[in-house]
Amino acid sequence: STFGFRDVEAGEKVRLVRGVFDSVASSYDLMNDLMSGGVHRLWKDAAAARLNPRPGEVILDVAGGTGDMARRYSKMARAAQQRRGGEDARVIVLDYNAEMILAGVAKGGEPEMTWTVGDAMALPLPDASVDAYSISFGIRNVADISQALAEARRVLKPGGRFLCLEFSRPTTGALRKAYDAWSFNAIPRIGGWVAGDRDSYQYLVESIRRFPEQATFKAMIETAGFSRVSVTNLSGGIAAIHHGWAI
Ligand code: SAM
Repeated sequence: STFGFRDVEAGEKVRLVRGVFDSVASSYDLMNDLMSGGVHRLWKDAAAARLNPRPGEVILDVAGGTGDMARRYSKMARAAQQRRGGEDARVIVLDYNAEMILAGVAKGGEPEMTWTVGDAMALPLPDASVDAYSISFGIRNVADISQALAEARRVLKPGGRFLCLEFSRPTTGALRKAYDAWSFNAIPRIGGWVAGDRDSYQYLVESIRRFPEQATFKAMIETAGFSRVSVTNLSGGIAAIHHGWAI
């Protein structure tokens, strides 16, 4: 295709995930707020601060959905530019679901932002072409996580930053218990009421459970060739930021 990404229809996981997001794209933002009690906004603020977008940078937000992270990056880069000058940043939102991209365009972008349909496992970008790569609540849905990490490494310039914000493992037993009750019982029910789609939210909860915990995922990022990989737990490890450097 013109974007140069592979046929992503192969594989059951891909079809399932796409079905989930097709059915929820419109009520997606509301569901995020309900599921996390609004806390996902604070997690996203923390992740954006960690990425530290700078003027003149090319920032790629993969599985960018409706552009939540990209809007933050654009505003932060522009604020820094107003303080100390420099070129405009470029923030690319990439998502393989055109419905999410369209919902994001409808919400409105920032001047730095461009929208692209493409696959995390075969990024339609040249080697060493971006300063920062981010993926927020997206990587656990990708059919081949190692392949997505390899692609992240490929498109980053030397010295570039990798950032992943994702659900992870609560660090204490008590919190894990409360969280299990909330996610296994409440989230599918809320998904049924709000999005009329209990099964999709059941699938989301299970995908969180299957995703590797902090240390395992850190090791995967290191295996992909990133250096100085660090983990920051958010809300006691309900979510985590993984950050690394392409050296
Ligand atoms: N990053 C946004 C956020 O934090 O609000 C959206 C997260 S949403 C839970 C997950 C997104 O990942 C969906 O928009 C979905 O289309 C996208 N996605 C899943 N697998 C993908 C892949 N292989 N390549 C690109 N996007 C993918």
